Amino acid sequence: MPKKFCTAISCIDGRIQLPVIKYLQTRFDADYVDLITETGPNLLLSAQRDSRSVESILAKLRISVSNHDSVGIAVVGHHDCAGNPAPKAEQLAHIRDSIAFLQQHCQELEVIGLWVDENRDTSEIQGGHSQVKS
Ligand SMILES: [Zn+2]
Repeated sequence: MPKKFCTAISCIDGRIQLPVIKYLQTRFDADYVDLITETGPNLLLSAQRDSRSVESILAKLRISVSNHDSVGIAVVGHHDCAGNPAPKAEQLAHIRDSIAFLQQHCQELEVIGLWVDENRDTSEIQGGHSQVKS
């Protein structure tokens, strides 16, 4: 059996890596989780003001998808984020915006959001799987 990969676009924050990996291995039935890290990636992908960072994330994402046949993508936000200090409600909106943006680039894959709280509990933010093929 070939090993299965999924992809997390996550924060650099060391507190959230293990919870995110464990959640996604179960969620996507994956052996490995490719990690693309930035500070506050949900803000970067939501605002898309820093086009170099956005391009860098997308370039890494394309490699994960094409070389590892990633089966799903998660964009992550978390409590007490140095890169995205916005309150939770705002960060959840950033995650939903990021899901919509990523879904445009990877229409064939499921894109979900994750929120990691102050206890490092992880919950899923639904973005919906786009069935539209263009
Ligand atoms: Zn962070």
